[in-house]
Amino acid sequence: MNDEAFPTSSDSTELDTMMLIIKSFLEHLEYTLGKDKYSATRHDIFNALAYAVRDRMVERWLDTQQAYYNEDPKRVYYVSMEFLMGRTLENSLVNLGLLAEFREAMNSLGYDLEEFIEREQDAGLGNGGLGRLAACFLDSMATMGIPGYGYGIRYEYGIFRQNITDGAQVEIPDNWLRYRNPWEMDRQEHLHPVKFYGKVVERKDSQGNTVFDWVDTEDVMAMAYDTPIPGYNTNTVNTMRLWTAKSTREFDLSFFNEGNYIRAVEKKMLTENISKVLYPADNVPEGKELRFKQEYFLACATVHDVIYRFHKQHEDLRRLPEKAAIQLNDTHPALCIPEMMRVLIDHHHLDWDTAWDITTRTFAYTNHTILPEALEKWPVWFFEHILPRHIQIIYEINDRFLAEVRSRFPGDVGKLERMSLIEEHWERRVRMANLAVVGSHSVNGVAALHTEIIKEHVFKDFFEMYPERFNNKTNGITQRRWLKCANPDQAHLIANTIGNGWTTDLYKLTQLRPLADDPAFVAQWQQVKRTNKEKLAAYILKHNCVQVNADSMFDCQVKRIHEYKRQLLNVLHVITLYNRIKARPEDDFVPRTVVFSGKAAPAYAIAKLIIRLINAVGDVVNNDPQVGDRLKVVFLANYSVSLAEKIFPAADLSEQISTAGTEASGTGNMKFALNGALTIGTLDGANIEIMEEVERDNIFIFGMNAEEVEDLRRRGYNPRDYYTQNPELKNVLDMIAEGYFSPANRDLFRPIVDTLLNQGDHYMLLADYASYVACQEEVSKLYLDREQWARKAILNCAGMGKFSSDRTIAEYARDIWGVKPFEVHPVLDYRQHDVIPD
Ligand SMILES: *Cc1c(COP(=O)(O)O)cnc(C)c1O
Repeated sequence: MNDEAFPTSSDSTELDTMMLIIKSFLEHLEYTLGKDKYSATRHDIFNALAYAVRDRMVERWLDTQQAYYNEDPKRVYYVSMEFLMGRTLENSLVNLGLLAEFREAMNSLGYDLEEFIEREQDAGLGNGGLGRLAACFLDSMATMGIPGYGYGIRYEYGIFRQNITDGAQVEIPDNWLRYRNPWEMDRQEHLHPVKFYGKVVERKDSQGNTVFDWVDTEDVMAMAYDTPIPGYNTNTVNTMRLWTAKSTREFDLSFFNEGNYIRAVEKKMLTENISKVLYPADNVPEGKELRFKQEYFLACATVHDVIYRFHKQHEDLRRLPEKAAIQLNDTHPALCIPEMMRVLIDHHHLDWDTAWDITTRTFAYTNHTILPEALEKWPVWFFEHILPRHIQIIYEINDRFLAEVRSRFPGDVGKLERMSLIEEHWERRVRMANLAVVGSHSVNGVAALHTEIIKEHVFKDFFEMYPERFNNKTNGITQRRWLKCANPDQAHLIANTIGNGWTTDLYKLTQLRPLADDPAFVAQWQQVKRTNKEKLAAYILKHNCVQVNADSMFDCQVKRIHEYKRQLLNVLHVITLYNRIKARPEDDFVPRTVVFSGKAAPAYAIAKLIIRLINAVGDVVNNDPQVGDRLKVVFLANYSVSLAEKIFPAADLSEQISTAGTEASGTGNMKFALNGALTIGTLDGANIEIMEEVERDNIFIFGMNAEEVEDLRRRGYNPRDYYTQNPELKNVLDMIAEGYFSPANRDLFRPIVDTLLNQGDHYMLLADYASYVACQEEVSKLYLDREQWARKAILNCAGMGKFSSDRTIAEYARDIWGVKPFEVHPVLDYRQHDVIPD
C-alpha cells in the first residue's frame, strides 16, 4: 500500500484535540454508520463516539504491537474462560487521559457524555470474581508495560441478565452483541482449525519412528476478535484476543450424496454453537460435553497462536519458555498442557522429554477454589470420544509421573491413588487440577490463607514432592476502574489532598492516614459518601420502588449467591433486627438499609430460594409501619460490573462473611474498603490480609477461624445444639420454617431451614450466628459516632495499597513469568521515520 495514504500523527498534533474528536465522531457517524444528525439513533451516537475513542487507542495499539515485534520481549499469555470486562467507554477515556476532552467535545455537539457512558452494555463474559480478576489483570499489565495478552472465548451470550419477578430470579439471555461491539476488530486472517472426535492411527515414519495421526475428525474453525487494552497514562495498548467458532468450508459430503443440502448446512451451523454461551455456574463445574468442547476450543486455538507468534521470529521451540509464559486461570484452560505436548510431539516431532521440559517451563497454574465439588474432573470417556489423542498423552504423563512418585515414596499406595491424574471411580475421570499441577512450574493460591490451605490439604502430596512450585499471589483490583472511574468524587478529594500518584502506586494512599484526624478532611469525606448514598438511594427508588433513608447505614452484601458465602447468615441477622424492633418499638435502633445483590446459578435451587427469602423478608420488613426507616431490605437485580460500580461507592458496611477456609481470596472485599466502607468479616481469604493492612481496630472480625472450623468439623458439629440453646436464633429459624415470610405458601422456605437443622449446616451458620449478631451490635454502636466511623473508613482506604492488581501483577512478573516492564516509545517516532525518511 502507498505510504502517502496514511495520515501521519504529526498532522493531528496540529489540530486542536477537541476539533479532532468532533471530526472523528462526525466521520464515524457518517461514513462508518451511514447516519446524519437527523437519522442517528442513540445507539448510533454511542457507536460513533466509541469508534472515535477507539481511534485514539488504535494509534498506540499499532505502535505497541510493532514494538513488541521489533524488540521481541518475553510475552505473557493469560488464558481464561472468563473475562468480566464490564463497560469500556469511560475506562478507556480515563486511561487515555481524554475524559474531559471528550466530555467537552460531546457537550459542544449538544450531547451529554454521561448518557452514553450509562447506555453501554456490559461485556459480561464471566461469572464473578475469577472473570473480574482477569479483567483487572489486563488493565494492570497494560498500565505497567507488561507485554501481555488475554486469551478467551467470544461468547455470543454472556452471563444472563437477572430479573426479579415475584421475588424470584428469572434468567434472560444476554444478547450483548445485538447492537454491535465497537471495541473489537475481527481478524479473518487468524483462523485456526480445531479438531474433535475421530480416532488415532499409529504408524512408522520414514526413519522408523512411531507417529500418531489423529484422523477422521470433525473440525471447527476458531476465528480471532481482538480488543485493545489501553494502559493508564502510557503508550502501551495490549490485546485481548477472543475466539469465536466458525464452521469449516467443507460440507459433509454424505448429505450431498443424499441430495440433502439443508441437512449439510444445518450440521455446519451446529458446530458454531461452541462459542454460543457462557456457562453460568460459579464455583461449581458443569459436567457438560459442550463445556468440555469449549475448554478444548480455547486451549487449541490459543496454543496454536502462541506457537505461531513464536515461529514468526524463532525456529527452535526449545527456546519457547524464554519467550512465552502461559498463565492458566484455574483449570478451565488446563487442556492447553496436553495440547502443547501434542503439537510439540505430533506436529514438530520433538521427543517426549524435550516437549515435556518446554511445556512445564512455559505453564503456570492459578488455583481459585478449594471447594471439593468445584474441582474439575472430566470423564475418561469424554476424552476417548472427543479428544482421543489427548487421553493417550495424559496417560503417558500419568505413567511417567507415577513412576516418579513410586521412586520418591516407595510403597505408598495411598499416595499414588491420591496423586494420579485419573480418579479410579465407577466412572473413571481425569483430575484437571492434578494435571495442571504436574504440567506447570508454578502453582499459586490467591491469598495467603488459601495458599496455606492448598499446600496443607488440597495439594498436600504435591507440595511434599514439589515444594518449590508453590507460591502465593494475593489477588488485587485495579484502582483505575474501582476508584477513579467508579467514585470520581472520592478520587478527586484524594487527588486534591495527596496528588495523583495513587493511580499508579496505590501505596501512596498511606498519606491519607494523618488526614483521618483532620476535621476538615473528615467533613469532606463524609460529604462525598453522603452524595454517593443519595445517588444509590435514587437508584433503589427507581428500580425497587423502596424509599430508603440516606442517613441509614448502607449495609451491603453483593456477590454471587452461594451457600459458602452465607448470604443466609446475613438474612438471619436481618430477621433478628426486625424481631428486636417489633419487640421494643419504642427503643432507639441504628437505622440500616441492607442491600443484597447477586446472581445464582440457574440450576442451584437452594441459592435461588435464598433470593426468594431475601425478597420475602424485604416485603414484610419494608411494609411494616412499626419498622419505618429503621430497617429496609433491598435486593438489587442483575448484579454486574456496572451495577457494582454504583454500589461500592455508596457502601458503609461491607459484608464478607464466608465460612473461614472457603473463600479463596475475595476481591469485592477490596473494592469496598477502597471506597471507604468498613468490613464485617470472618478470618477468611484476603480479609485476613486486609485486617493486617488496616489494623485490627479498624475492622469487625467475628466467628471461627479456619482452624476452629476444621476442629469443630472433626469433633462433630451439631447445629441443633445452637438452635436449642439460643432462643433468638430458634425464633428466627422457626419463623422461616413456619411461613412467617411466605403466608401464601407456608412450606416455601422449609428446605432452607432443613439444610441448617437436618442436613448438617455444612457452612456452619448456626455456630457463627451469636458471634455475628454480637459483632453487628458493635458495628451499630460505632455508627452512632459518625466522626469515628469516618475516621476508620479513611484508615481503611489508606490501607488498601497492597490490594492494587498492579502489586499482584508485579509479583507474577517477577516470581513466575520472568518478565520486565517494556517501554513503548513515543507514538510519533515510528510513523514519522517510516513516512518521512531523514
Ligand atoms: C468483584 C466482583 C465479584 C467478586 O466479588 P466477591 O465478593 O469477591 O465474590 C463478582 N462480581 C462482580 C461483578 C464483581 O465486580
